[in-house]
Amino acid sequence: MVVPVLLRRTPGTLAAAIRLHRVAVGAPAARFMSTHVTNAACEDHEPGFLGSVETFFDRAAKISGVSEKSLTGIKVVDSVLSVKFPVEIDPDTHIIIEGYRAQHSRHRLPCKGGIRFSDEVDLQEVEALASLMTYKCAVVDVPFGGAKGGVKLNPKKFTPAQLERITRRYTMELCQKNFIGPGVDVPAPDVGTGPREMSWIMDTYRQFNPQDVNAAGCVTGKPVSQGGVRGRNEATGLGVYYGVREFLQFPEVQKMSGLTAEIAGKTVIVQGFGNVGYWAAKFFHNNGAKIIGIGEHDVAAYDPNGLDVEAIFKHRLEKGTFRGFGNAQIIEDPIKIMERECDILIPAALERQIGLKNVKNIKAKLIGEAANGPITPAAHDYLVSQGKVVIPDLLLNAGGVTVSYFEWLKNLSHVRFGRMSRKWEEAGKNKLLTLVEENAGRQLTPQERRAVIHGAEEHELVYSGLEDTMIGACEETRATAALKQTDFRTAALVNAIQKISTVTTQSGQMFL
Ligand code: NAD
Repeated sequence: MVVPVLLRRTPGTLAAAIRLHRVAVGAPAARFMSTHVTNAACEDHEPGFLGSVETFFDRAAKISGVSEKSLTGIKVVDSVLSVKFPVEIDPDTHIIIEGYRAQHSRHRLPCKGGIRFSDEVDLQEVEALASLMTYKCAVVDVPFGGAKGGVKLNPKKFTPAQLERITRRYTMELCQKNFIGPGVDVPAPDVGTGPREMSWIMDTYRQFNPQDVNAAGCVTGKPVSQGGVRGRNEATGLGVYYGVREFLQFPEVQKMSGLTAEIAGKTVIVQGFGNVGYWAAKFFHNNGAKIIGIGEHDVAAYDPNGLDVEAIFKHRLEKGTFRGFGNAQIIEDPIKIMERECDILIPAALERQIGLKNVKNIKAKLIGEAANGPITPAAHDYLVSQGKVVIPDLLLNAGGVTVSYFEWLKNLSHVRFGRMSRKWEEAGKNKLLTLVEENAGRQLTPQERRAVIHGAEEHELVYSGLEDTMIGACEETRATAALKQTDFRTAALVNAIQKISTVTTQSGQMFL
C-alpha cells in the first residue's frame, strides 16, 4: 500500500534530477497550488508560497555577486519523499494518510526543519518551507541544510492514540527511506506538532536503530525528560522578541518607522496564538508592550487597553475560544485584526496572510514575520514602499532552529549544558569575592553574594546563546541592507546565499 516517491540528486545529474522531480510529483502547477486559508489575502495572480520564496531568492541572487552556477545549485530542492500509508482509525476503518519530507539542501548535514500537521499541507508548501530552512540556518550560522516535513491532516480531528499511530507510521517511512537520523535529517515541531509528537518520533526511530547511541539527536523540540533542552519550547517566540528589540535600536529603523527604541509602551497585534504567537506575545507583554489584538483561526480578540496574555491563554484553553474574555471586542473575521492601528504587527500563524487584497489596510509601522512566508512579494514591496519596516521570517523566526541546534549538540554530547562547569565557576567567583571583600573592607550580604556567584543553569545558557545569535544576525542583515541599499529581506537572503556558496565552492563542488 505504501507509495513512496523518492528522489535524490546524484552526482552529475542535477538537471535530470530536477526534471525527474517535476515529472514525478505532477505538473508544476500542482507544486504552486495553495488552499483557501492561505488564499484569502491574495489575488489569483500572486505566486503561491513556493513561488514567493523563489521570487525573493531571485531578487537577492541578482545582487549577491555569487556565480550563476552556484545559484542554480542553491535554489533547487534536493530530495523529496512523498508517501501514502493506511492507518487504522477504529477496527472497521482504515484511512490513507499523505505525508512529505523535502530536503532542500545537504550542503551541510544533517538537514533540519520542522514537521507540520495540517490539512493545508501540500508538496509546494513543504518545498517552500524546506528552502526557507536552508536560508534561515545560514543567516544564523547554524551548520545545517534545510528540510521540512508535512502530514496532511487536521490534528484536531484525531484522538491522541490515532495521532500517535500516524506519527509513528510516518516516522517509519522516514526511517526506511533514510530521511531521518542525527547525521542525516533532524525534524522539529512546526504547526500542529509539539514535544509530544517529537517524543513519539524519537521513540520510533530508536526502535529501528537500537544500536545508535546518538538516537536522541534524531529530532529536536523533545520534552526535557526525553533529551530536550530547556528553553526550546519558547525559543522561536523569544527570538522574535530579541529580533524586534534589536531592530528598534537601529537609527535607520527608527527613522523609517517613526518608532522609538523601547519595547515598553508599544502596541502589538499578534496573528496566531500557538507556540510561536503565544511566546512572542508573552515576551512582549512581560517587557512592557501592550498586546492589543490576538487573531486565531476562528475569531480575533481586540482591546485597546491591552490583553492579559496569560489570562486570555487560560481562557482559550478552557473555553476553546476568545469569546467571553473580559472586555475584549470579538472580531468575527479574524484576518481583519491585522488591519487595526498598532506599532508592531506579528503574523505568527501561516503563510500568505498579507497579500494584495489586504496590504493597503495594514497600519502597523513594523511587521515582524514570526510565521514563515506570511507576506507575498507584491505585498512586501508595497509595505517597503510605504516606509514600513519588515523583519523577514528567515531572520526573525530563526530562534527555533538556533535552540534546536543547541538541543542537538546536547544530545550528541550526552550531557546537560553547564553540568561540568557550574560548581567550578561558582567556586572561582566565591574565592574572588572573598578577596574583593577583604580589600574593600565590606562583607556582601548573602543575597548579593548569591547573585554574583550564581553559575548558569541550562536555560540561562540557552537564552544567552539565542540572544547573542539573534543580535549577531540582525547586525549582519542591517549591514548588508546598508551596503546593498536594499530591504532587510533581500539583505538576509544575500547573506544566506553568500554563506552557502562559500561552503559549496570551498568543498570543491565534487558532485556538481
Ligand atoms: P502552532 O500550531 O503551535 O500554532 C499556530 C496557531 O495559528 C494555532 O493556534 C492555529 O489555531 C492558528 N491559526 C491557524 N490558522 C489561522 C488563521 N487563519 N488565522 C489565525 N490563526 C490561525 O504552530 P507554530 O509552531 O506556532 O507555528 C506558527 C508559524 O511559525 C508557522 O508559520 C511556522 O512555520 C512558524 N515557525 C514555527 C517555529 C517553531 O519552533 N514552532 C519555528 C519557526 C517558524
